[in-house]
Amino acid sequence: MVTGRTLPERGAEPDRILSTMKNLRDGDVDWQDGKVWSLVFHAGDELSAFLKEAYCIYFSENALNPGAFPSLKRMESEVVSMTASLLGGGPDVAGNMTSGGTESILMAVKTARAWAGQNMRTDRGLEVLMPESAHPAFDKACYYFGLRPVRVPGGPDFRADVKAMKRALTKRTVLIVGSAPQYPQGVVDPIEELAAIAKSRGILMHVDACVGGFMLPFVRDLGRDVPAFDLSVEGVTSMSVDLHKYAYAAKGASVVLYRDRELRKLQYFATTDWPGGIYASPTMLGSRPGGAVAAAWAMLHRLGREGYLEIAGQVMDATDRLVVGIGRIDGVEVLGRPSMSVFAIGSSDRDVYEIADRMTARGWHLDRQQSPPSLHVTVNFAHIQSTDAFIDDLRAASAESKRPESSRLLKRAGGFAVRAAFKVLPNRLVSRVMDTATSAMGVGEGGGLPERSAPMYGLMATLPNRGDIRKIVIDVLDGMTSYDPDAGPILEDRE
Ligand SMILES: *Cc1c(COP(=O)(O)O)cnc(C)c1O
Repeated sequence: MVTGRTLPERGAEPDRILSTMKNLRDGDVDWQDGKVWSLVFHAGDELSAFLKEAYCIYFSENALNPGAFPSLKRMESEVVSMTASLLGGGPDVAGNMTSGGTESILMAVKTARAWAGQNMRTDRGLEVLMPESAHPAFDKACYYFGLRPVRVPGGPDFRADVKAMKRALTKRTVLIVGSAPQYPQGVVDPIEELAAIAKSRGILMHVDACVGGFMLPFVRDLGRDVPAFDLSVEGVTSMSVDLHKYAYAAKGASVVLYRDRELRKLQYFATTDWPGGIYASPTMLGSRPGGAVAAAWAMLHRLGREGYLEIAGQVMDATDRLVVGIGRIDGVEVLGRPSMSVFAIGSSDRDVYEIADRMTARGWHLDRQQSPPSLHVTVNFAHIQSTDAFIDDLRAASAESKRPESSRLLKRAGGFAVRAAFKVLPNRLVSRVMDTATSAMGVGEGGGLPERSAPMYGLMATLPNRGDIRKIVIDVLDGMTSYDPDAGPILEDRE
């Protein structure tokens, strides 16, 4: 007996399939109305339609083989070059397109490992030194490639603590990481100082500009204060820049840049002995969607500097309205001094997770953060329409939210790292986490816990150690990625 979904015996009519998919999507978050503060970067319906058209021209093409598709190779190298020129890259700078920020970061870390093999006394137990705020993709890269992530708490302004990072350097440190900006609070790390340390030590320095690469240069052009962060900074040896974020390209598009081609070569893979022929590939993927390359190339040309600057201006105006509006609401505040359109909302006297639950009930989708407890906001073109409604609802949600029942608990939640993976859990799974957590801890018999994140984070704060939380998260992830027989098939088989 098969318990999962089996392949339907006969094919179904296309209309029935497509309409079922459209209905299914109605249950997802509503990003078109600017109510989702992460995940989707939308530059408006007209540009979106253009992007899809560009993607579809290269729908079937495979960027794996530049010999077969020289057109994609040309587009890709132009995209890399345009990105490098925006980010202070000189004539020697080289790079590749990847499927996203994570792959770009994986490549930079893997390249650092290979570089250590040639340039350091040891290539065992190599360490990547980074501020606590650096993206989890760096941990993932270390985990995949056998390096050790060394995370150093940030300063009171949430930026990397340069002195503390300097103290954490060892003989095995091969790569220092800084972000422009880091994701949690949207502040730019002191890149010049970190890069100077890397340079004086003769090691590598990566700047993660995944979210900022296609925004900060334009924010600077708008006359706003942006610290030096790119390849023009001495000592910076690689960068990651996502196109599927503020370049408004189709998902599956990012760029990894290196100071020169020698360093980039260490990223490449080639084998010459395979019966299937000589096989070489620059990045992680084998077959690569040509559409993602083509759509990125098309969007960079469609908008150009002028177009990006125009959008950045509107996005920063929307950000100003939000920051000023939030500043006028009792009980909430913007944390630190964000450099662009990414920031966190915290509270010194309220439970922000309860505020988040009340915002969820009003149709908003906000990611929950920890250390300190806060809500994450990424403003993009899609939100220009929704800032006023957001502020009104946030004012109401904050007014309804009580002071934390136990400030002790909240403090512990702040100091205690519930792993960042939690942010990816959709709300309806929160109750499952609660169930698992409560049974793991032997509390809350009867399972009368509300389907809310506020008590969940409180509960997590009381768990004895990180390992328990990690196990729960892995269990939930395992459940999420399995077929759910209770939900039944999306499309019923017809006789
Ligand atoms: C989004 C992001 C990443 C990861 O990018 P993906 O495209 O989600 O893989 C890495 N670093 C920062 C700062 C980001 O914002």
